[in-house]
Amino acid sequence: MAQPKYTTHHGMVDILPDEIRKWHFLEDLIRTEAEKFNFEEIRTPIMEQTELIVRGLGQMTDIVSKEIFSFSRGEDNYVLRPELTAPVVRAYVENRLDQRGGSQKLYYIGPMFRAERPQKGRQRQFHQFGLEIMGSSDAIADAEVIAFMIHIYRKIGIKNTTLKLNSIGDPESREKYKAALKAHLKPNFEKLSEVSQKRFENNPLRILDSKEEEDRPFIETAPLLTNYLSETSVNHYTKVKEYLGDLGIPFVEDPYLVRGMDYYTETAFELISPDLGAQDALAGGGRYDLLVEEIGGMPTPAVGFAAGMERLFIACEEMGIHLGSEKKVDVYIVTLGDAARKWGLLQLSALREKGISATMDYMGRSMKAQMKDANRENARFAIIVGENELKEGKFTFRDMVKSEEMLLSFKEILNVLF
Ligand code: AMP
Repeated sequence: MAQPKYTTHHGMVDILPDEIRKWHFLEDLIRTEAEKFNFEEIRTPIMEQTELIVRGLGQMTDIVSKEIFSFSRGEDNYVLRPELTAPVVRAYVENRLDQRGGSQKLYYIGPMFRAERPQKGRQRQFHQFGLEIMGSSDAIADAEVIAFMIHIYRKIGIKNTTLKLNSIGDPESREKYKAALKAHLKPNFEKLSEVSQKRFENNPLRILDSKEEEDRPFIETAPLLTNYLSETSVNHYTKVKEYLGDLGIPFVEDPYLVRGMDYYTETAFELISPDLGAQDALAGGGRYDLLVEEIGGMPTPAVGFAAGMERLFIACEEMGIHLGSEKKVDVYIVTLGDAARKWGLLQLSALREKGISATMDYMGRSMKAQMKDANRENARFAIIVGENELKEGKFTFRDMVKSEEMLLSFKEILNVLF
């Protein structure tokens, strides 16, 4: 076949009917489980103001500096949302969700856009689910967020995961640490990788999660952020660990774990899987006590996580976990001739009215082709109708699984179906 004239953009994929059932399964599971945790769904627009994302995530982050899809129309600047924490916070502030009282427990599911170099587990349009608890600084909220995240992977049966945990402290402790880190790296500045050299001035913490070999020796000998935490941060972190222990959620402390966005404070975590290859993060999150104020709201502590849905599916494939049931239909009406087709059309709606899924051929194909189609559609039963059947009022009713046929009136067929 000739090459198609139009294709999707690099790193953006169609989700085809053959794959859609696993998406439905996962989306249903997230909704059901989020309800159990008493979270409510929030949906925000696909596009946001550029300024929100730049302010929210930080000018120097990888996402803002090189990965956002942006465009303008007249005076307005738009970006395709690269993540949902900043948009959810915008919605929280704009709609005065704090006025609803108590802490707001929000979840979301939807597409995000980042102009990254596509590879396995990394797309330019991908999907995340995630949640945010706004209005609580209590370590219980951190534990609940992590518990939900772990709960989803456990429900699905993805067991081969590691929860990495760290505290990046409050801004004051972090400033002190940044100075110490820079003093440690400075004598070897020339030996650092090019990316790390770029990060040195404005985003030195990110050097800690550099994947470049040449940075390794300097990272391994770097001072630890943990040793620079204030008493309040240490206490908060200790509580988070205590609650996770109580909940039976194993974790590994990783003093080098820093998250990509500037808005994080205190708890930072990531769930990784060895089954994913180079892009090994299934999900990540943390506390962002400063973000609400940063974008114009009242000071509001908050914590959340986001998980990549495509990566969850990759992990499932690696583990041989099949999500979602096979496509099937209860009844396929095989029709021969115009009168039968018209009869079929009416009976389809009668069956659907009663809650039975039903379909028929729209292409005027032969009986053989229609039976083949009924098999392909995984039909449980077929009703075969031609002129004679219409005259007699008796139809061939075929059990496609048992390969048995009976001659029945439509009323009798309905009796079998219920
Ligand atoms: P982040 O918002 O960067 O913390 O990402 C949260 C999760 O989203 C990651 O752990 C990944 O599972 C997923 N993710 C992030 N970027 C991509 C991408 N470009 N393609 C696919 N999944 C992604």
